[in-house]
Amino acid sequence: MEKVRIELQNISKSYYSETAVTQALRKVNLTFSMGEFVAITGESGSGKSTLLNIIGGMDTFDEGEMFVDGEPTFQYDDEDWENYRRTKIGYVFQDYSLIGHYTVLDNIKSALLIMGAESVTAEQTAMVYLEQVGLKGYETHRANELSSGQKQRLSIARALAKNTDIIVADEPTGNLDSETGNQIIKLLQELSKDHLVIMVTHNYDQAEPYVTRKVRIHDGQVVSDVQVNSEEELEHAATASLESAERPKKPDMVPTMNRRWQNKTAFFFAKRNFQTQIGRTVLFTAFLLIIAVASFLFIGELFLHKDDYPTRSYSQATFRKEDDTRLIVKRNDGKDILQEDMDKIASVRNVEVVDSCDIANDINFYMEEDKDYKYIYGRSRDSTEGVKTVKFLNEKRFMMSTDCITADDLSAGRLPKERNEIVLYSKDSKALNSQILCYFMAYNIWQSGEYYQTNLKVVGILKEKTNQVYFSKELCSMLSMHINSGFYRLHYVWDKLLEDYRKNPEVVPVINDALRGTDVMISEEMEDAPPEGFCEYSWQAKDEDDNPVGDEIGGSYVNILRQKNPSTRSFIEVSKSFFDQYYQENSTQVSVYISNYAKTDSVIKKLNKLGYTAISSYRVSMTEYQEDLVNQRLLIIGISVFGLLAILIAEILILRSLMKIRIKDYFVLKFIGMKVHSINRISYFEMTVYTAAAVAVTIILMWILRLTGVGIVQDIMWYYNGAAYLLFIGYNFLLIILTVASFNRILKGRLNA
Ligand code: ADP
Repeated sequence: MEKVRIELQNISKSYYSETAVTQALRKVNLTFSMGEFVAITGESGSGKSTLLNIIGGMDTFDEGEMFVDGEPTFQYDDEDWENYRRTKIGYVFQDYSLIGHYTVLDNIKSALLIMGAESVTAEQTAMVYLEQVGLKGYETHRANELSSGQKQRLSIARALAKNTDIIVADEPTGNLDSETGNQIIKLLQELSKDHLVIMVTHNYDQAEPYVTRKVRIHDGQVVSDVQVNSEEELEHAATASLESAERPKKPDMVPTMNRRWQNKTAFFFAKRNFQTQIGRTVLFTAFLLIIAVASFLFIGELFLHKDDYPTRSYSQATFRKEDDTRLIVKRNDGKDILQEDMDKIASVRNVEVVDSCDIANDINFYMEEDKDYKYIYGRSRDSTEGVKTVKFLNEKRFMMSTDCITADDLSAGRLPKERNEIVLYSKDSKALNSQILCYFMAYNIWQSGEYYQTNLKVVGILKEKTNQVYFSKELCSMLSMHINSGFYRLHYVWDKLLEDYRKNPEVVPVINDALRGTDVMISEEMEDAPPEGFCEYSWQAKDEDDNPVGDEIGGSYVNILRQKNPSTRSFIEVSKSFFDQYYQENSTQVSVYISNYAKTDSVIKKLNKLGYTAISSYRVSMTEYQEDLVNQRLLIIGISVFGLLAILIAEILILRSLMKIRIKDYFVLKFIGMKVHSINRISYFEMTVYTAAAVAVTIILMWILRLTGVGIVQDIMWYYNGAAYLLFIGYNFLLIILTVASFNRILKGRLNA
């Protein structure tokens, strides 16, 4: 007698639904042996499929015991059943259960890979079986393109390729016309010679000539179990429908399903999904791309509003020029900044320009009449003369020195050499070499209302359009200087509490080129008393005969001249030689302009490393919070966080349900023996690749938008530092991992149901 392969003892199975309990099988006792071709018949709903599914390890039973090769199965866990399906059972289904978008060859190859075959062996073996079922020449066709009969042949070839002893077939001819159906049954009969074939059919007449045994089920019970044809009788009847090629020997299998092998098979399916369903690949990637772009922008907004300085009001008390890209930089040792320091600072990434005339950067200039200033004419009370006063209109223009430009920035002319030379941008061809009257005001240095005026000569024209005028370094430092040098020289102190910069000097020395030696010109209104610390010179008052009166102070004298000029009360005009001797000072701090406020911290950090101290003039000037700006910032942060959460939920819900279109394929893989664990990896591989593509495309896209000048993207991109990119990439991968994990939970539930 043939070896008993499957034995069912008192198998019962019920289905429970909310409203009813259906007993699908009642105490079924059956044994099956090799070489049998068993037809299970019965009317619809009698329990045939349930029985077949239990035999095939696709369904569980409630009571009784199933023995496989004499071994009981009561202690089988999920993994044992997976192994059982993989190594013992070949399946043939009414609906063929093929992966329609795979090629004919890949459908068989899949089963072999799952069995642990190497790729090349799997392909060779697959070809042999295709030939056996008469599908040679179709291997590169997609399974979808086959006729119904061919599909069923393919599904049989796949069952054969697994080289298992048992083949279970559920209504294999159900969707076929009778002639094709006959061919399929013949094929199965041929197989049954060295297999156990168990077939469910409700069309027993068609099967009768070929089967060896008929089991009839009614209402979940076996009502008859009869031998039909002996195996010998069938021997002659069999026509050579199965090509008489020799059955290939079982391909070498990986003995244990190790990780590497599992990953390899999962990767094969991920790759095939990707290759054979371009439409879905595009759909998934497009969805992930939308997610990636949205998360990029939200994360950008979070970084953009990371610090709260911009929600405060700017106080001009310290730095008059409101510019969020300006840093004030000193050497750590407080010594003069030399050219090599300037070069070092300029070489730091994101530093645009370095201006050694730091203080001049807070001095306003007024150059264009009716734009920057205007004249008001009136009549003074005590005279009939017309009085002309100047009123300043535009407080937004500040000096910068020629440190900030090079000859390459000029379209005409040259860089300034003399104190009163400037370069600016102008469309007017006559601008070059013209003379312009300019007013200056240093609110935080000079006494209130004081301004300085001089004529300037345009010696160069800038290429790029700008409102900025570049002044000679000599003029810049002259205007930054003041008489109380030793005591009050204006330094922007790091500790704002000291507030040294607020101290107004009493007098400001400026050069008057007409003066010589120790001649000093002061306003008629200036008192005779020497202001504190007017270098080592002292005032020397003189009587009518021009003889010095009073005590000599400090041993030296200046020769005082007076002029009637009420607007320059605190300016002391001195000769150039006098100025150079007493007021020449090198700067110990410089103004540094960076490419964007976003780079403040990173530039400061780099400067610190190089041995400099730096502060952001913008940050130290930001004082009280402005409620509306604070609220606006909080709102944007809230929206962004909410957006990121919404994306997370959208991805899990939407992408997960999009992924469900794959579940059918995964059922097929399960039936041909793939472990659920390995099936789960397919989605990880596939989706990770799509996410990587979406993330990469997003970054490229954003750079393109940035370079083409899309404002919102430009703003955000400034804030995209390493941390932001890391967050963006990490967030997208986290999202896909959560989504796939959640999908896999659903899939596992379905597959194990
Ligand atoms: P057959 O294959 O002979 O048509 P089945 O084995 O499919 O019969 O079903 C046997 C009985 O069990 C039927 O009454 C059917 O309605 C019920 N049944 C089958 N599968 C389920 C299920 N998943 N849930 C609930 N009832 C089921």
